[in-house]
Amino acid sequence: MPARFPLPPGSMIGVLGGGQLGRMLALAAARLGFDVTILEPEPDSPASRVAARTLEAPYDDREALMTLAATCDVVTFEFENVPAAVVEQLEMLGALAAPGKRPLAIAQDRVSEKQFFQGLGIATADFADIAGPDDIAAALPQLGGRALLKTRREGYDGKGQTWVEGAADAEAAWRRIGGKPAILEAKVPFVRELSVIAARGRSGEVACYPVGENRHENGVLRTTLAPAHISAATRAEAEAIATKTLEALDYVGVIGVELFELHDGALRVNEFAPRVHNSGHWTLDGCEVDQFEQHVRAVAGWPLGKTAALAEVEMTNLLGFEADAWQALAAEPDARVWLYGKREARAGRKMGHVNRLRPMKESQP
Ligand code: AMP
Repeated sequence: MPARFPLPPGSMIGVLGGGQLGRMLALAAARLGFDVTILEPEPDSPASRVAARTLEAPYDDREALMTLAATCDVVTFEFENVPAAVVEQLEMLGALAAPGKRPLAIAQDRVSEKQFFQGLGIATADFADIAGPDDIAAALPQLGGRALLKTRREGYDGKGQTWVEGAADAEAAWRRIGGKPAILEAKVPFVRELSVIAARGRSGEVACYPVGENRHENGVLRTTLAPAHISAATRAEAEAIATKTLEALDYVGVIGVELFELHDGALRVNEFAPRVHNSGHWTLDGCEVDQFEQHVRAVAGWPLGKTAALAEVEMTNLLGFEADAWQALAAEPDARVWLYGKREARAGRKMGHVNRLRPMKESQP
């Protein structure tokens, strides 16, 4: 369906993926008068229960893709493991996809992603492309003798990765990650993990949110504190990295860029997510225009909204049964609770999050 931008209210936005990110995108889209169609293989998904329409089918279901292409003015995604070939197919069927297949394809392969950043002159961990245990043993000396082995594809929340303790561990480490094509990364001696959420609109304008500081537990994001207490130089570098990335990809939409901060404030990029990001959930209550509305604005060709922080926010993920404390959380005067409507709690599963707000200190961005 040919789209003219800016899309008027009443237009249909397709979203590949029906998790909590799709749910919050659909809520934001509805507030601007748009309807959303979700494509999701699982029944009763968090997004399907707030969306105008759901196609319950595998991502590569030809009929579902034809329906999306025929009925949606623009199609986006909330899940970065949607096969890039699906987005390509949608484009061949005449759909307009944003951010498009190239950012998705690059982000799906850790080696391509690192090469992409290095091509832009953006510093990453040193790394080697690994096809088997011999490559691990050969690359370890240049990478400091102890390094992190990650599958090239489909790793998330720390899954599919293991530390290689030395050449003698190469075979076992290869087996620990399931014997799949991999990347071996030098250990980055970071003092903090940061992320920058940024957006690029259809006319090329870029807006960056204040940088967030992230704490992980067992490989899963636990809290984001934003705006992070970092120097102006580090903030400027984070924004420059995000802007360069968005422009190089001719990107439309919101991106999440994960960064390591070194002791001198310099940054190394870890990875980017071509979608709205868990570490941007603080913007729901800390900014005039949150990351979900911003993404909808970008893909619909609307002007981007303001990204300044109005409050200092600590976002805490509610994992597993922690969301059962919803009554106590709801009674906290400075907390806002977001629950994803997942039917079943499992250990470590993201069930919701809570944003705790404090007034901004004068000196902050
Ligand atoms: P990732 O799946 O790439 O986001 O990695 C998960 C977590 O592992 C990160 O949030 C870091 O805490 C840690 N990590 C990843 N890569 C490195 C690295 N090269 N050096 C040190 N720690 C890392």
